Amino acid sequence: MNQSLLQILTPAGLIPDLETLKAWLTTTDNRLHESLVAAAFALKNQQAGPGIFLRGLMEISNHCQKNCLYCGIRGKNATVARYELSDEEILHLGQKAAQLGYASIVLQAGERQDNKFVLRITKLLKSLKSISLRDGVRGGVRRPDGSAGLGITLSLGEQKKEIFEEWYAAGAHRYLLRIEASDPDLYHQIHPQDALHTYERRIQSLRDLREVGYQVGTGVMIGLPFQTEEHLAKDLLFFKKMDIDMCGMGPYIPHHDTPLAQYAASIPSPERRLELSIRMVALLRLLMPDINIAATTALQVLSAQGREQAIEAGANVVMPNLTDLLHRSNYDLYDGKPGAAVDADVEDTDFARYLAQKNIPILRGEWGDSNHYFARNRD
Ligand code: SAM
Ligand code: SF4
Repeated sequence: MNQSLLQILTPAGLIPDLETLKAWLTTTDNRLHESLVAAAFALKNQQAGPGIFLRGLMEISNHCQKNCLYCGIRGKNATVARYELSDEEILHLGQKAAQLGYASIVLQAGERQDNKFVLRITKLLKSLKSISLRDGVRGGVRRPDGSAGLGITLSLGEQKKEIFEEWYAAGAHRYLLRIEASDPDLYHQIHPQDALHTYERRIQSLRDLREVGYQVGTGVMIGLPFQTEEHLAKDLLFFKKMDIDMCGMGPYIPHHDTPLAQYAASIPSPERRLELSIRMVALLRLLMPDINIAATTALQVLSAQGREQAIEAGANVVMPNLTDLLHRSNYDLYDGKPGAAVDADVEDTDFARYLAQKNIPILRGEWGDSNHYFARNRD
């Protein structure tokens, strides 16, 4: 490992300043890149464990009341065929997850805040918990409060605090809500200017989630129009300041039917977005050694080995998609989103073979909560 890097690493991770992070994001020195990645991987093994956690991803609906300027399923995109999985389909996917040994699932959808939707999620959470209990998920799968069953992460956008409470009580215990861009000006540049899309509301939701007791995950898109390396360096410091438990970040990929696509020619090349994404993973691991960091699906659009590269840079979570292929193709966030090419089961895939070759165990039958969550609750 590069000597100067060793000197600034402490047992608790990296103590960087904005200038150092910016320099590391902009460097074209391959040896430095390799040193950062190697240091991050070593720190991940030490502080987050050697294994990879799995979450079975269900894209339960593409209906959305919002209009984020980058997202292919934004409400105003009339070209999308809208769908909603039935309760039976969702419960079936829960069973499939348990059978595959995925002790954790993620329910993701466009944002809706109407009562019908909220109540349906509450009901579904309870049913998913009881199904998984009957199916007897293996391993030490215990909720921090002692209950068992599938570990459930939600990614259902901003909600009122009482709704977050209701869903927590019904069985969810992790929540993913990306800040998308931690700089308020950049946030506003990539969202419509209205009361539904404010930075303040997003931040308040992250705070509410933490107060309710969730393990909180956030993240950003990398390579957005108008975004600089300074923005990304500040994103890393934002994650640290927010003391997050989990992070999912990945490259921005234009969707042709969105307002932001008009700036596609101005964004970094796919190679650079991939490199920046991998470096962001490595730097975040150095900053926050014991959190969970996802190797996100969008990385696979830029390179067939995108997820593998993220794992080598310190990511420790993958989210195989359980959604059936028909609906998956309508959960069309960005152009080239992996569809049939990505298997629900990681068994017998190039990805599994890569992990085996590198002696990286896949931890089936474990919830895979972040060590950071337990550490901050001990303090
Ligand atoms: N509606 C919820 C929300 O926004 O938090 C959850 C679903 S949303 C589709 C999940 C994530 O997709 C967003 O947080 C965003 O970062 C990502 N996403 C949307 N459009 C994208 C694009 N064009 N490129 C990369 N990621 C994108
Ligand atoms: Fe809706 Fe989420 Fe897409 Fe925004 S990112 S338009 S909230 S699905």
